[in-house]
Amino acid sequence: MRHWGALLVALIGAGLLAIIGTTPPRAVPASAPATAFSAARAMADVRAIGHTPHPAGSAEHERVRDYLTGRLAGLGFTVSTTSSAISAAGAKAFRKQNGAAAPLSTITDIVAIRRGCDPALPAVMLMAHYDSVVGSPAAADDSAGVSSVLEAARAIAASGPARRDMIVLLTDGEELGLDGARAFFAGNPLREHVGVIVNLETRGGGGRASMFETGEGNGAMMRLFAGAVRRPVATSLSVFVYKHLPNDTDLTIAKAHGFPGFNFAFIGRPSQYHSPSAVPAALDQGALQDMGRQVLDLARGLLDAPALPGRAPDRVFFDAFGLVLIAYPAWAGWLLLGAAIGFYAVGAWRRVSPGTAAWGAATTLALLAGGGALLYGGNLLSGADGPVNYYDRLAAIPRLEWQILLICLGALALVWALLVGERDRIGIATGAAVPLLVLGTVAQAVAPTAAYPIVVPLLLGGAGLAAMRRPGGVGVAVVAAMLGIGYMLAMGFLLVEAVGPFIPVVAALPLAVASVLAMPLVPAVGRRQALIAAAVMLALAIGIALWVRLDALAASVATYSRFK
Ligand SMILES: [Zn+2]
Repeated sequence: MRHWGALLVALIGAGLLAIIGTTPPRAVPASAPATAFSAARAMADVRAIGHTPHPAGSAEHERVRDYLTGRLAGLGFTVSTTSSAISAAGAKAFRKQNGAAAPLSTITDIVAIRRGCDPALPAVMLMAHYDSVVGSPAAADDSAGVSSVLEAARAIAASGPARRDMIVLLTDGEELGLDGARAFFAGNPLREHVGVIVNLETRGGGGRASMFETGEGNGAMMRLFAGAVRRPVATSLSVFVYKHLPNDTDLTIAKAHGFPGFNFAFIGRPSQYHSPSAVPAALDQGALQDMGRQVLDLARGLLDAPALPGRAPDRVFFDAFGLVLIAYPAWAGWLLLGAAIGFYAVGAWRRVSPGTAAWGAATTLALLAGGGALLYGGNLLSGADGPVNYYDRLAAIPRLEWQILLICLGALALVWALLVGERDRIGIATGAAVPLLVLGTVAQAVAPTAAYPIVVPLLLGGAGLAAMRRPGGVGVAVVAAMLGIGYMLAMGFLLVEAVGPFIPVVAALPLAVASVLAMPLVPAVGRRQALIAAAVMLALAIGIALWVRLDALAASVATYSRFK
């Protein structure tokens, strides 16, 4: 392989797959069948709720509550509202957002129930919060969630009677520290009737909607999820990552009370989070469609299940580019890891010198350590070294995505120029896989549900390398690289969207994995050209970092965050 054709085909394919995996579907028009979820129909509620800020305690908040109780009653629900005293933490959060305004004493949840055929069975609850923060119309957070609940409930009612009762809980005081959920799950008698919860949230105004959180022992729940939801977006990696982040939603409270649940959110267009700019026209209707259609499929599956899923050992799961959910028991990761090691051994047998393999291993270590250091330094340069406004950092994410991609490409060119050069590609690729196989083994041992982003691509990479022993086997390597690099691109994009401004070094892992998959297809690298390319990309990344650092506070930041 001394030309760029094969690598180019693999990279173009990978880019297309990544775009498919990260692009929300088209909004379904209002003319769709009554049993379908239509973002266009849901938008009528988004416009009614999310055109003006409606924080707890405001007159607009009362208007939204009246609107929602009316809508739910119209959909055949028995609706009630329950008021409860605000917590000390909630009162403090209220003062922080409102300044010297009169204190708030109570919050009011909306609780609605629609009977199914067998009211003795545990019910399915759909949950979202109807309060906004001060200063944000909150078309996304969480009018999108509330409107998706209403549209899904309408579609369910249109398909005839369900087996189970459906409960809708629209919480108040979520933005004041989850007080509404706390009140419901601590004391409302109806909580005894809840069998499973689906919660809807957003941390931005667009992008793919993902099922990002579920409970411990989720094996049976995920089996139902996979069977019920068409084109699901969900990964056990995000479940693992989210568990270790300080973020909370209403589902946190429910889970603490022992309720099983599924949590959906979209986090694209992050400048809209808690922002005055989060108006209905700015909301990505594709994101609304993506969330609503999955919630509707899942709610139908749960409502009609003869028995709700109990606890079963955790499963590893991830969507392949939003097209199909791949899921397997955690122990099966050992088989995949063994197969990956076997493939690399076959590919390297009597062909790879230990010296070349050592250079290969050095490329992976250099990308993880050096790439990580460059990503960390770039982030400091972009302003993370000083006091930061959280919402200003979120607003910078689209630019930080480019900064991080350029740093990764620069690091790749640098490492290929200095360590790969003219050396045998098969030997380099084999050696480069070794540190990742070790890392994959450690991950499989301590966090099996988070090991697949290493194990599965290496299985592909190993298969490609083994296939290259035969004439014509390069096609397998191209397809393997396309799938693996495509997944790393999509995963890297979503990781940066989720935690990029705070933990940018996460991008070093997909970078190292992608490099291993590309390596067998890389033609001769001219050292001079590669160094020039690295310099150009790193210079561009520095330019973006300085732009993010030196520009004014984003106009989109939450109004109350300006006082800090
Ligand atoms: Zn929210």
